[in-house]
Amino acid sequence: MDDVVVVGGGIIGAATAYFLSKEGRKVRVIERDPAYKKASFPLSLGGFRRQFFQKENINLGKFALEFISNISNTLKTKNNPNPTASMVPNGYLLLFGPEHAEEQYEALKNHKACDAGTKNINASKLKEVFSWINPEGLETATYTDSKIEGWIDPHMFHNALKNKAIELGAKFEKGDVKKISDIKAKTIVSAAGCWTKELLDDIPVAPQKHTVFRVKCPKHYPEMPLTGDLPSGVYWRPEGKEYLAGSPNSKFDCPDLEPEWDDFESLVWPALANRVPEFEQLKLTGGWAGYYDCNVLDNNAIVGKHPKYENVFLATGFTGRGLMQSPGIGRGLTELITTGKYQTIDLSCFGLDRIFAKQKRTEPYVL
Ligand SMILES: Cc1cc2nc3c(=O)[nH]c(=O)nc-3n(C[C@H](O)[C@H](O)[C@H](O)COP(=O)(O)OP(=O)(O)OC[C@H]3O[C@@H](n4cnc5c(N)ncnc54)[C@H](O)[C@@H]3O)c2cc1C
Repeated sequence: MDDVVVVGGGIIGAATAYFLSKEGRKVRVIERDPAYKKASFPLSLGGFRRQFFQKENINLGKFALEFISNISNTLKTKNNPNPTASMVPNGYLLLFGPEHAEEQYEALKNHKACDAGTKNINASKLKEVFSWINPEGLETATYTDSKIEGWIDPHMFHNALKNKAIELGAKFEKGDVKKISDIKAKTIVSAAGCWTKELLDDIPVAPQKHTVFRVKCPKHYPEMPLTGDLPSGVYWRPEGKEYLAGSPNSKFDCPDLEPEWDDFESLVWPALANRVPEFEQLKLTGGWAGYYDCNVLDNNAIVGKHPKYENVFLATGFTGRGLMQSPGIGRGLTELITTGKYQTIDLSCFGLDRIFAKQKRTEPYVL
């Protein structure tokens, strides 16, 4: 019998394998597509932030920075002596209209309690800090400018975690797990992302297709933060000499990952040009689509032990934030598995009880 089997070798699987291996557990990771063609993490925008409503999500975002900043030491291996996640610490800027302002003022109390280091600004003053913005229709905004939020290269981060886990003894194998009961192990961790329901059919997580467009603009702002325009739902960031922009439109029941190209002209470009007048001159240069592991109950993580099994733990439902939460989730699950309770960030609020009681704990700031 195996000691630990992790089903799914994506970013959550790799992070969990790393933390468990560090604690001396013998981990086998089973991944059905080692090229990760449809996995969520390589198709993500790579963003990490602490600008959330709920304290646990804020603290997971803070730990992401701490962890990513140290990987040149912690994830160093013989094969990968200089691990990097190519961090771009440009910060985040979230823009709120009057309809979201009250909620945001409440969220700021949590930012303060968690010492998140975010700044709040009235929309009338926005142009003094971000010269490129049209503040029309906005009431307030929150941002960071001290290199504590930004984005990373998800491939490089995954590679660094996986390499270190392997050096610590983890084995990554190709395999398609059909049923959780097919696995014989002391501990089983389901890290199957948006496909979790195939293994655990009572978990309300579904693949939700999101499209990202790549665009070029004659005017380049390399220092631009990852900006989320809550009134339109569009978000964007610089990518090399271009920009990436996410559509607010999402779809369930899409077996293919063809981007929703029509969204660009009808939704994304108008919203971008409205908020950044220079973006009127955009040219579409490409795009892709990927699946969010959407928790259809409350858009929040589902993490912990499955009460119907003796030995099954799971982590899924991150709804657009699994990459940034992977270090905190990998560490938290390891604490739960090896000591029986969380030792650092208390993740009990993401447990399975609320799911089966259908008690929503909605995190509003989904981009
Ligand atoms: C367009 C887009 C933008 C995003 N932007 C961000 C962002 O800026 N920041 C952020 O933090 N997050 C972002 N995300 C979300 C993030 O990518 C996901 O939340 C995260 O990747 C989830 O990690 P995971 O390991 O659970 O799932 P995945 O990365 O999908 O990995 C799961 C793995 O499990 C394997 N698997 C599934 N079932 C089985 C089985 N039965 N047997 C064997 N293997 C199996 C799959 O092949 C897959 O490789 C974005 C996602 C998308 C699509």
